[in-house]
Amino acid sequence: MLKIHRAQREFRTMKYRELPEWSRRAATWAESYFATIRRRPVRPDIEPGEFLSQLPMSAPEDAEGMERIFSDFERLVPDAMTHWQHPRFFAYFPANAAPASILAEQLANYMAANCMLWQTSPAATELECRMVDWFCDSLGLPAHFKGVIHDSATVANLCAVLTMREKALNWEGIARGLRGSPQLRIYATAENHSSIDKAARIAGIGNANLVQIPTESDRAMHPGSLLEAIEKDLSESRLPAGVVSCVGGTSTGAVDRIAPIAEISKKFGLFHHVDAAWAGAAMICPEFRPHWQGIAGVDSVVINPHKWIGAQFDCSVQFLAEPDLQIRTVGLRPDYLATSAENPITNYNEWTIPLGRRFRALKLWFVFRAYGLNGLREIIRNHIAWVHESRREFEADPAFEVLTACPFGLFTFRCSGQGELADVRTSQLLEKINKDGQIYLTQTTVGGRFAIRMTAGQFECTKADVDSVYPLVRDAARELPN
Ligand code: PLP
Repeated sequence: MLKIHRAQREFRTMKYRELPEWSRRAATWAESYFATIRRRPVRPDIEPGEFLSQLPMSAPEDAEGMERIFSDFERLVPDAMTHWQHPRFFAYFPANAAPASILAEQLANYMAANCMLWQTSPAATELECRMVDWFCDSLGLPAHFKGVIHDSATVANLCAVLTMREKALNWEGIARGLRGSPQLRIYATAENHSSIDKAARIAGIGNANLVQIPTESDRAMHPGSLLEAIEKDLSESRLPAGVVSCVGGTSTGAVDRIAPIAEISKKFGLFHHVDAAWAGAAMICPEFRPHWQGIAGVDSVVINPHKWIGAQFDCSVQFLAEPDLQIRTVGLRPDYLATSAENPITNYNEWTIPLGRRFRALKLWFVFRAYGLNGLREIIRNHIAWVHESRREFEADPAFEVLTACPFGLFTFRCSGQGELADVRTSQLLEKINKDGQIYLTQTTVGGRFAIRMTAGQFECTKADVDSVYPLVRDAARELPN
């Protein structure tokens, strides 16, 4: 006879009661990791596949002890990671994990709630309502904006593009599909993040209908050209759906002038979304708000607290002037998710694409309180001022050409000289710098020319860290073969 008792024997694996011991081990590891992080190369000097080659080909048949699992983590993983919390991480944009945020994430992880509905997570839902209101207020945004926390700006951008599409189609697209609908058009500049291109694809609008509006000499959208493009499309029976502006574009930090674009969008009834995923955080400092003058008149804004506010990845806040437009577009309420309550409730899954949602508001709550707005402002102001100083050092050195500067502390530069030779030299310089590992920088192109980006934003970064960039780059450039 078949033995059926095997599954009932106590299965020897880690138990909840052992969590405190292992959490302490993890915390002790973290203490040493952060204490020694400066001694690590920011980016590991390893070859693709090197880490993979150390992993078994298949999962174990029998349980392994946590001691062994943990020691494999210590032995294998940290040295094969790029250290985003390294104070000399000057690549891409920062992705800060403030200690208060890490702690909040631990607590959220212990409860592991799915915060899809109010009733599946009352405290998480209501904390999210309050945190987005706090954030809205701290940014100087008007109180009519209501917010939601997404995982990423990519999803916020997709939601905004879907909403502009459906508003233009009077919600016929979600009802009948796009077949037979007019040719939809969306307007943005090439300075926008690639997630806007992705959104145009996923939304069935197509990259060819993401109209690239020319920019002015500072790479901001040319409002007159936007107006012309909309009028031309209307005269040729195409259907303008919406406009995307950027405040702090990813490549060079381009900043569109919001007020005239908002005015044009309003004139034609177009949904206007602003991607301020990185630079929006700086608006907690009132002195930067002139850079998004007119923001009160837009329909949607996205800002990532996981970049510069310290609430670690993932945490992306989208503010909406009329949330109902988006809820009508991406929200669904099948019977099995029906909820009843006497008072009005918010079911945040209806504002976004995934049904399941993590408890992200907790880390915002911890971070806002652990730093206070003044603490966060000081960090951001310092980063911006230090990066401006670093840029001036590059500007003063004829070996380099500074190509772009941005008010929020991001500049691009390259080795002086014309054409392909300077491109090659700049790319060799970047490779040399990153192989060395003392700092980490990444690249872009400006007007087709290869350039190195420099921005600072890690919370533990000091002035000395930013000051180290110019001499390190200068010396590396001098060591390049002629
Ligand atoms: N928008 C901008 C301006 C960005 O800089 C980025 C990423 O750096 C994104 C959107 C995408 O952000 P996420 O990683 O949250 O999807």
